[in-house]
Amino acid sequence: MTVDVAIIGAGVIGASIAYHIQKTGATCALVDPEPVPRAPSATWGSAGGVRSQRRDPREWRLTVRAAQRWPSLADELGTDLGFISGGHLHVVDDPADTEALDARIAAERRAGIEVERLGTAELRMIAPGIGPAALAAGYTAGDGQADPQLTGMAFRRAATERGAVLYRGRARQVLEHGGRVTGIETDDGSVRAGTVVIAAGSWTASLLSSWGIHLPLELRVAQMILTEAAEQALNPTITWEGRRLSLKQTPSGNYLIGGGWQGVSSPLRHSYRLDPSAVRGSLAAAREAWPRLEELGIASVWCGLESESPDGVPYLGSLAELGAPTGLHTAVGFSGHGFQIAPAVGEAMAALVTGGDDGGVLEGLEPARALTCPDHTTGETSAAWRNAG
Ligand SMILES: Cc1cc2nc3c(=O)[nH]c(=O)nc-3n(C[C@H](O)[C@H](O)[C@H](O)COP(=O)(O)OP(=O)(O)OC[C@H]3O[C@@H](n4cnc5c(N)ncnc54)[C@H](O)[C@@H]3O)c2cc1C
Repeated sequence: MTVDVAIIGAGVIGASIAYHIQKTGATCALVDPEPVPRAPSATWGSAGGVRSQRRDPREWRLTVRAAQRWPSLADELGTDLGFISGGHLHVVDDPADTEALDARIAAERRAGIEVERLGTAELRMIAPGIGPAALAAGYTAGDGQADPQLTGMAFRRAATERGAVLYRGRARQVLEHGGRVTGIETDDGSVRAGTVVIAAGSWTASLLSSWGIHLPLELRVAQMILTEAAEQALNPTITWEGRRLSLKQTPSGNYLIGGGWQGVSSPLRHSYRLDPSAVRGSLAAAREAWPRLEELGIASVWCGLESESPDGVPYLGSLAELGAPTGLHTAVGFSGHGFQIAPAVGEAMAALVTGGDDGGVLEGLEPARALTCPDHTTGETSAAWRNAG
């Protein structure tokens, strides 16, 4: 099979890239052993928060573009994504934090993010059951939640409807000739392509290192708790300054609690076990923020695996400067917040690899920054690693 672009990994990111490549008129193959997002992938485990505030400035252009796309994305892809625009509150409870809140909101507004400052009374009108400590908040009315698995599958389907080839296989090797990518070898044959994009989430680092390329990435074992269902009482999604908390109520009435609590990765790396103290810690933080959770039991707890970059923003672009053959790209390292930006990442990566105009939205996110950005564990840069290796 010969296509313009082969994409390794069909999570929400790879599938979005595939859809947008087909929209440009180029052709692609989307390679993944799984027919649907499966545990423990990030798209399978994701909380589905659609949040544009409190992002690194390097993600501002992506998040603004994504926020423009979410309201009409279901119509564009022709299927329900579970998107609900209930807003997002980032709450502060310490008067000492309000100055920083104001400064952040002002900077984000200048960047085009539609965020407002709410005082105590206004935020209690939007979230009447919020805990007594809530003092003020940044509020993005257009944010909300969507279903990550539905969204990932919607991008896959829309890509194949436009001619993308879904290839059920596991990529084993990148093929190259004369310093240029020529395709990939999978466990079920080869795909010929002049461009390859690796969007294999938490599997990316080991794939790259088996091909001799080091990209600093750490495994996150992000924990989620789903409570029993209750009457609908919470419209916005909530995060809280200084607390490891993200909270939302799903359309079925269950509360979904996350915010950075971690499970424990197994020695095999692609499985995990729960850490009971993290479950207790997460529940306690959520109950303080939303006291009516005291009455609800836990329905389930799981973790999704995600790659985190040392500076907390993704690597998006060519790997050539890290010693990879020309034509090898990646979209990885979403560090726990890649879902909201997925529509914009797909669009920009498609433009990048097909020679179109990405509108500058990928600036500052290039993988080449790993040459100067120290690794989490070793403290070394990719340049040092390459020199050592
Ligand atoms: C618990 C949790 C909660 C989150 N909550 C939010 C949130 O509220 N808001 C937000 O914006 N973001 C959130 N995120 C982040 C977001 O979900 C991720 O950034 C996003 O899903 C990443 O998608 P992905 O396609 O890069 O990776 P994945 O979904 O992990 O997909 C990688 C794919 O690669 C495939 N693959 C692996 N190896 C190979 C191979 N050799 N060949 C072919 N295919 C291969 C896998 O089968 C998999 O399908 C959360 C993440 C987690 C884990």
